[in-house]
Amino acid sequence: MAGRSRSDDDYDLLMKVVLIGDSGVGKTNCLSRFCRNEFQTNSKPTIGVEFATKQLTMGNGDLVKCQIWDTAGQERYRAITNAYYRGAVGALLVYDVTRRKTFESIERWLRELREHASADMVVMLVGNKTDLETQREVSVQDGQDIAKREGLLFLETSALDGSNVEEAFTRVATEIHGIVRKRRLESQQGED
Ligand code: GDP
Repeated sequence: MAGRSRSDDDYDLLMKVVLIGDSGVGKTNCLSRFCRNEFQTNSKPTIGVEFATKQLTMGNGDLVKCQIWDTAGQERYRAITNAYYRGAVGALLVYDVTRRKTFESIERWLRELREHASADMVVMLVGNKTDLETQREVSVQDGQDIAKREGLLFLETSALDGSNVEEAFTRVATEIHGIVRKRRLESQQGED
């Protein structure tokens, strides 16, 4: 509700969102840019799952708590477990616009999502590192085409200069919030 201060545990919706994509595409930096407005030039992956939370206020005043999980290097060993995906309602599937190989991995990541995650998960495809325009190996059109074909949201970002990072997370959260509200309304109507 707008207009009163709320504690950390006073939110309308808690959502788990996972980050996936090849090693080195910028997942950790997208997370730290979004949650702490920080960027690390030589972030070393620590092994094990890490997560950060951020609260967002939706257009209707609802307070949403996003719990964002980072693979923290586990993708290198293809060792992402079921527990990572369990309960997740959203995903950011990140590739690096300067490394074609990371774009070619998208289909594999989508297969993994379909295997482990819920079918109605909201997935945003993210082409990161747009600040390195001269090194670009993946066009915007390529990203748009695969997103359209696979029914994914799509944005290009730069964790370094911050462009579109907040938008990417916020759009996923807004989409999920809309779906949950619709379901809650439908179930209330069903009870009437
Ligand atoms: P992760 O393995 O996917 O979590 O990737 P990291 O966040 O650890 O980033 C890997 C490397 O790419 C690091 O050296 C980062 O500094 C760099 N990096 C991440 N995002 C960007 C970006 O938007 N632009 C540029 N130029 N470098 C980035």
